[in-house]
Amino acid sequence: MTEEELLEKGYRKYTGEEIDVYFNTHVCQHSGNCVRGNGEIFNLERKPWILPDNASKDEVKRVIDTCPSGALHYIEKEGVSK
Ligand code: SF4
Repeated sequence: MTEEELLEKGYRKYTGEEIDVYFNTHVCQHSGNCVRGNGEIFNLERKPWILPDNASKDEVKRVIDTCPSGALHYIEKEGVSK
């Protein structure tokens, strides 16, 4: 999905340096895979609760790939190297 499509569907954007994360609370099934997967990136007791820069881009992708509902998506930024 493109960013436009995600935002249109009600996803909220959490901007990172190398990767942006998108979350839709209405799609979330509250499995907890995200917070259990990496509490540095996903922490419900913090605002914003998603901080994509608190781990490597690969780690962000790894955890989001475990989300069973599709409530989490990511889009990698092009042309960013580090
Ligand atoms: S892993 Fe996905 S479905 Fe589970 S709590 Fe996180 S966002 Fe919601």
